[in-house]
Amino acid sequence: MSKITNESAPVAVENARNFADQTKEVEILEADLAAADDKSREIAESFEKQIKEQARELRAKIKESEDSRVALMNMLEDMEDLRRRAEEEKEKTLAIIANFSDGLMFFDAEENLELVNSRMEVYFEIPKGAGSKIVGKKIADLGVVPALKPLVELLAKESKPVFRKELFMSEKAVFEVSLSDISGFHGKIGSLLIAHDITREKSVERMKTEFVSIAAHQLRTPISAIKWTLRMILDGDLGPINSEQRDFLEKTYKSNERMIVLINDLLNVTRIEEGRLIFDLALVDMGKIAQSLAVSYIDIAKQKNINIEIEDSRGAALLEARVDVEKIKLVISNLIENAIKYTPAGGKIIVAAGEIGGNVEVAVRDTGMGIPASQYERIFTKYFRGANAVKMETEGTGLGLFIAKNIVESHGGKIWFESVEGRGATFFFTIPKPSSPAGGEKTNVA
Ligand code: ADP
Repeated sequence: MSKITNESAPVAVENARNFADQTKEVEILEADLAAADDKSREIAESFEKQIKEQARELRAKIKESEDSRVALMNMLEDMEDLRRRAEEEKEKTLAIIANFSDGLMFFDAEENLELVNSRMEVYFEIPKGAGSKIVGKKIADLGVVPALKPLVELLAKESKPVFRKELFMSEKAVFEVSLSDISGFHGKIGSLLIAHDITREKSVERMKTEFVSIAAHQLRTPISAIKWTLRMILDGDLGPINSEQRDFLEKTYKSNERMIVLINDLLNVTRIEEGRLIFDLALVDMGKIAQSLAVSYIDIAKQKNINIEIEDSRGAALLEARVDVEKIKLVISNLIENAIKYTPAGGKIIVAAGEIGGNVEVAVRDTGMGIPASQYERIFTKYFRGANAVKMETEGTGLGLFIAKNIVESHGGKIWFESVEGRGATFFFTIPKPSSPAGGEKTNVA
């Protein structure tokens, strides 16, 4: 045991104080250490959290890009599918065009020939190899292949669209040609020319026309003989007849007259169809012709209790036109006869002639049954008879207006009608007035 001396006591105290201080310092250090430990744990934890967060985001992004890649692949597959289908469609369309039963030519939006099908080459006897020579050319330049010249000339005469225009190449090659624009979603993509072979139809039509023409010619002689024999009997040239015999003979005479009208109509139709309707033109006053014809029908109309009025709006002026008088008389007679046929008893017919815009116009107005709107388109076609007309008047050939239209148009005129069903009809036709008066002349205008 050490002995505490007076000198060593303060040192000991000092030492003890130092020790206490050091202990305190150690405690502070330990506390700092603990705090630093906490901090570093905190940092580590936050760091770990951040890494986890970033890893999660990265995974999400990887998934997103994987999804995009899959979507892209799907799109590519779809596009490939569409491309394949478009290719197939194109092939199909080309195969249809190539094997189409009509001749086809397709012109692009700039009107350059893009393709010609083989049927077209056969129809127009385009020499082998010449088909590719015309690709890229415009319609007007297709004539470099001589076989196509008639087609080019026909198209040059027409303004587009061309619809069913007849192209006569030879007895063995007649075509119906149509040319129309083809439009896609974004406007015009080109135009298509179709040549349809109608050689067979034309030849059958020609044979039918020839047959009708021969039959009508053959029938004319016996029918005329019957007419004149009946006339002689009725006039008492072959001895007296009693009233019953007269009655029967009058009826037979009328039936025979109807047969003559029919035969004459058929002959006129065949002449129109064969382009043989000869016109003997002369400068005449159309007003006078219309008037005298109207007068000639007054008695016939009266038998049906129908009044015929003549409207004269021309005053002293001449309604001159250069026409074939007999043919124009046929037109006016047909219009007046129709008005009488299709107007019930008690009705009225007005025949008028005047001058309108350099044309002579003749109009036949009636208060009859009129024309249903559904028949407007067919009124001037061959053999057409309205259902209401057949009901009201069984007699009729359906040829009168067809012949009238051809005669008027061959004179450079127009024929048309205005009608409300049940309220009558007005038929008009015009013939251009001549610019300078001239004498008669013979022409084949049909
Ligand atoms: P058809 O008188 O012999 O039948 P048309 O060619 O003269 O032959 O006339 C053709 C058709 O036009 C007639 O069947 C009739 O349906 C119609 N039609 C002609 N004229 C008249 C009219 N004035 N009123 C009503 N319908 C008419």
